[in-house]
Amino acid sequence: MRKVIIIGSGPAGFTAAIYAARANLEPLLIASSVEAGGELMNTTEVENFPGFPEAIMGPDLMAKMQEQAERFGTVVAYDDVVELDVDGPVKTVTLGSGKTHEAESIVFATGSAPRKIGIEGEARLSGRGVSYCATCDGFFFRERTIAVVGGGDSAMEEATFLTKFASKVYVIHRREELRASKIMQERAFANEKIEFVWNSEVADVLGEDAVTGILLRDTVDGSTRELPLDGVFVAIGNDPRTHLVHNKLDLTEHGTIWVDGRSSRTSVPGVFAAGDVIDPTYRQAVTAAGSGTVAALDVEHYLASLADAGQPAADAAEIDGLPDAAAVGAA
Ligand code: NAP
Repeated sequence: MRKVIIIGSGPAGFTAAIYAARANLEPLLIASSVEAGGELMNTTEVENFPGFPEAIMGPDLMAKMQEQAERFGTVVAYDDVVELDVDGPVKTVTLGSGKTHEAESIVFATGSAPRKIGIEGEARLSGRGVSYCATCDGFFFRERTIAVVGGGDSAMEEATFLTKFASKVYVIHRREELRASKIMQERAFANEKIEFVWNSEVADVLGEDAVTGILLRDTVDGSTRELPLDGVFVAIGNDPRTHLVHNKLDLTEHGTIWVDGRSSRTSVPGVFAAGDVIDPTYRQAVTAAGSGTVAALDVEHYLASLADAGQPAADAAEIDGLPDAAAVGAA
């Protein structure tokens, strides 16, 4: 039985792994079979992660985090968790490969998934002109006309990035004021290939086998019009990935996993959560990393308290030598 299993391989998961590994907890990190590295794998330059004044590419940052976690003994499994049993002192994680792993504690750091508009044409034409990842699919839209839906940092970042390929990029936003940070807004406003379509939402995505246009609805007067184009990038935010823990852990009204105050403790003892899956507000790589730190330190406290109480019978000896609660974090 392991001391801790970390589920998720974004900044929260890998930072939890770095701390847990340095505390000799020999973490197993389940990284997903197809989406290892989390959302930063779909971004280009990360300009706001401290320590990289010249910016760093998202995938490079994640590779460095993984290298750092592995250097201290983290074992990374490229597999998906399909079942989670968190009742009782021994937690069981079942993977897509059929393997099961047991642990005394779990850190749940599954992040968030791109939000969908929820219209018929979007689902039907997904992968055929509808995309949620500019860095993955931008290349296919060389000299084409496309739209980015959304008014936040992601939409500005995607729109700006896509002008490298597309001849024209519409940004469709449901209000007449952007949510994005000033620097991202100004970059998009200054780009001649970008045209903003204000007070508009996408009522449908048009096309038989591939996207040929979108149906726009004016959010002020309700009128509709068609806009011909070749691709639609949806960048309207993310939803926490909690499907594995529905009815197992308490959730908040935002759909994130409930944690106790500033800690990572969930409603179930021995289960901790970190990163975007607990955060409806800040959702930055660096806040997720901080949150992963909190989770690893909480795991240390928890395991130390089990050892103090003489549990679990199976291998209490193995957790001897853990730093006591007062010393946690002093390293
Ligand atoms: P976000 O900040 O939540 O923005 C989502 C945008 O989509 C908002 O403009 C929202 O409109 C719009 N929207 C939401 N649901 C919609 C719907 N059903 N139909 C149409 N429009 C809809 O999400 P985000 O842009 O993905 O950013 C998430 C977090 O990551 C933020 O904290 C952001 O700062 C951060 N981030 C940072 C960077 C960076 O610093 N380089 C890059 C990307 C993301 P309203 O404005 O009307 O609500």
